[in-house]
Amino acid sequence: MNMQFDAEYDIVIVGAGASGLSAAVEAVKNGSSVAVLEKLDSVGGRGQFVEGSTAFESDEQKKRGIEVTRAQGFKALMDESQWRANAEVVSAFVHNAATTIRKLSDIGAVWEDVTIYAYEQESELKTMHWAEGEGARIIELMEKAARDGGAEIYLNTAASRLLTEDGRVVGLEARDADGQELQLGAKAVILAGGGYASSPEMMEKHSWYGKNARYLVDLGTPGNTGDGLNMAVAAGGATAETGSVLLMPVAKDKTITSHVSGAGSQPYLWVNTSGRRFTDEVVAMNFSDAANVIAQGDQGTSFTIFDEATKKHLETAGSDIGLGTFIPYHAQLDRMDAELEQDLVTGTAAKADTIEELAAAIGAPPETLVATVDRYNQLVAAGADDDFYKPAKYLRAIERAPFYAVRMVAGTLVSVGGIKVNGNLQVIAEGTTDPIPGLYAVGAEASGIYGDTYPLTVPGNISGFSYTSGWLAADHAASQIAESVAV
Ligand SMILES: Cc1cc2nc3c(=O)[nH]c(=O)nc-3n(C[C@H](O)[C@H](O)[C@H](O)COP(=O)(O)OP(=O)(O)OC[C@H]3O[C@@H](n4cnc5c(N)ncnc54)[C@H](O)[C@@H]3O)c2cc1C
Repeated sequence: MNMQFDAEYDIVIVGAGASGLSAAVEAVKNGSSVAVLEKLDSVGGRGQFVEGSTAFESDEQKKRGIEVTRAQGFKALMDESQWRANAEVVSAFVHNAATTIRKLSDIGAVWEDVTIYAYEQESELKTMHWAEGEGARIIELMEKAARDGGAEIYLNTAASRLLTEDGRVVGLEARDADGQELQLGAKAVILAGGGYASSPEMMEKHSWYGKNARYLVDLGTPGNTGDGLNMAVAAGGATAETGSVLLMPVAKDKTITSHVSGAGSQPYLWVNTSGRRFTDEVVAMNFSDAANVIAQGDQGTSFTIFDEATKKHLETAGSDIGLGTFIPYHAQLDRMDAELEQDLVTGTAAKADTIEELAAAIGAPPETLVATVDRYNQLVAAGADDDFYKPAKYLRAIERAPFYAVRMVAGTLVSVGGIKVNGNLQVIAEGTTDPIPGLYAVGAEASGIYGDTYPLTVPGNISGFSYTSGWLAADHAASQIAESVAV
């Protein structure tokens, strides 16, 4: 039985973010007819916030004398995942990421630099390609190239169900901007919905933070509600490593460009809700690991404690570590006083003349916080952190009133696990090693390059993977379509 559709395309792409637009650009270049569905009223998704993207052996790296081989990239990603990643998918990414940089240059991207994220983190590979205008500019360029090539972009249109016939995906159902049901026929559907980070229920169900997921604060756009994962599973697709999520520390109720949040992200004294120190705060340099630490704590919360001398240091000498372009290295955090006016009222920060009062303000037992600060000051005086082994340069005494506490939580950037795919980005059918014909998953929707967490030692990898997997899926779909025509 052949279904009746409202419209038919070679390829229908679900999601107009980093991976979906990359798929669309490639698909129109291949001559495929393309529809891109975007549930929000504008394109870009979380791709708009991307700062930098991973590639290996790219022209931009070579130009700058940077040598990071594909083999190094492959090994780093596999090792970081403790070999839970899918080697086929990692290989496809590592092999093709440099081509992505070239493809983006072809549509107008200008690469300003290739760096690492945290300058003192020796384990990082120099893979982070920074484009002029960052991810937002890349989105603009991809949207233009896709539209110029003839892709139809349906805004305010959410895909809801895959349509299958004899085991193959033949299209999907969606609801358009006027609330009308729409059935679109497709020779291939590419799921590019960007994972489930916008859905608190799915975060609690799937991410490895479990019940603590309720304390995470979503820092992205609201459309990433796991629709692709749910649609793929309903159509018989398998899942893998669904729990992996990329987090970043952020002060409660603040944005990641806030100076109070920037101060709270520094590797000073971190205490839990009981006023106890619990980690080597130098983990702050790797924001993904740092947020994992915070997310696991009681109420997914920690407090960063510092004194007036350190506040002055942040305002004049600047931050000791950076958070990408959001809080650059050594940025003078001179907006703190202005922000604190509000933050002291909302409870995002506390300020007090004694440690006992500071403890009361954050709800910790005063005697515990006093003991913690005393011990910390001993370590500072000794110049050696015998408790958690933080490098001495980040040991700053807490002596000069007033004292400050910034309430930190973990913010969600994007979930990075979900639908099981093979090296061609085809969705694998549950209980088999075979792909579901006509169905692909890309970007943050697809599993493959991660274990249970995000490796910042290969910086920029989820956007690099999103752009790369998008065009790889479009190419594979085009080859399958051509084959079926030939048959
Ligand atoms: C603040 C911030 C900073 C970041 N910085 C970096 C960085 O520097 N480097 C990096 O690698 N990554 C970074 N990321 C992660 C970045 O979000 C991902 O790399 C990238 O966006 C993933 O691309 P994607 O296409 O999978 O998802 P997205 O770009 O989010 O696109 C998914 C799109 O699908 C749409 N959609 C979802 N469901 C449906 C549906 N049913 N129907 C239609 N449309 C649907 C969504 O609305 C969305 O527009 C950052 C994220 C945030 C929030």
